[in-house]
Amino acid sequence: MMKEKLNKIKFEAEKNLNEINNLQELDNFRVKVLGKKGELTQVLRGMGSLSNEERPIIGQYANEVRSFIEDMIGKVKIQLTKKERDNKIKNEKIDISMPGKKNELGHRHPLSNVIKDIENVFIGMGYEIAEGPEVELDYYNFEALNIPKGHPARDTQDTFYINEDVVLRTQTSSVQIRVMENKKPPIRIICPGRVYRSDAVDATHSPIFYQVEGLVVDKGVTMGDLIGTLKVFAKSLFGEKTDIRLRPHHFQFTEPSAEVDVTCWVCKGKGCRVCKNEGWIEILGAGMVHPKVLQNCNIDPEVYSGFAFGLGAERTAMGKYNIDDLRLLYENDLRFIKQF
Ligand SMILES: [Zn+2]
Repeated sequence: MMKEKLNKIKFEAEKNLNEINNLQELDNFRVKVLGKKGELTQVLRGMGSLSNEERPIIGQYANEVRSFIEDMIGKVKIQLTKKERDNKIKNEKIDISMPGKKNELGHRHPLSNVIKDIENVFIGMGYEIAEGPEVELDYYNFEALNIPKGHPARDTQDTFYINEDVVLRTQTSSVQIRVMENKKPPIRIICPGRVYRSDAVDATHSPIFYQVEGLVVDKGVTMGDLIGTLKVFAKSLFGEKTDIRLRPHHFQFTEPSAEVDVTCWVCKGKGCRVCKNEGWIEILGAGMVHPKVLQNCNIDPEVYSGFAFGLGAERTAMGKYNIDDLRLLYENDLRFIKQF
């Protein structure tokens, strides 16, 4: 009786397994036959009623049937897994002829290019780059630079005051003071950075702009060193044929002071619309560091001397790239930016 039941289970299992189409069905089948409440388990529960002679024989046969069915399930499982994977690959086929996502590679802003160019020229001459805060104490922005309270350069129309003692720096010269306070000569630095003035926006003005300042302090530094340095700088940035011209001027923190022109980069000095027929374009201010400024930083003006200069990065970029409106540098219109 029991052997017949086992044979029937074996026979039906073989038959049913051939009709199974997916892994879920296969698992259901396994539980139905071999599970705790499965057909084979039910049969084995009846072993207690068998005689002592029959029990080991039927027991062994039941085990054979179980391993036979397990083997069958294993084989079908391999086939079905492969079939399902093949189907998945077929359905998820990628169209490699489809155009990919374009990765746009950007580049430096023309203003950053000019600042980097200027930095490189001076790094080549042994200068270090110094930085300082944009929200600055009145002392560093004005007082220490020989611009006392009440001086027109502090005019509230030009300066953004946070309070009476704190301003948005109007010049990067504040960095010069901070460096001289902490470092003894020889000093050779340039300070590139953002500065702020309360100006309305137009083709040549912006309330935020970039300056690059330079400072050299050492024993025996002369105006000749300043002129030589600026000549090298002008030639490196605007070309070998560029010359410079100094016109006397007044700054509070240098004495003597000068405004510095370079040969017009458009007409090469012949005279044109850009240079207003002068052949020269003003790009920076410079001079010998005022003795009072050195004293303010505990540097003895009887022993040391120095020169300082400063230029606007925007104006330099406009010259170098022939840009006629400063606002273009800040609007970030890609059609414009892409040209540089
Ligand atoms: Zn010109």
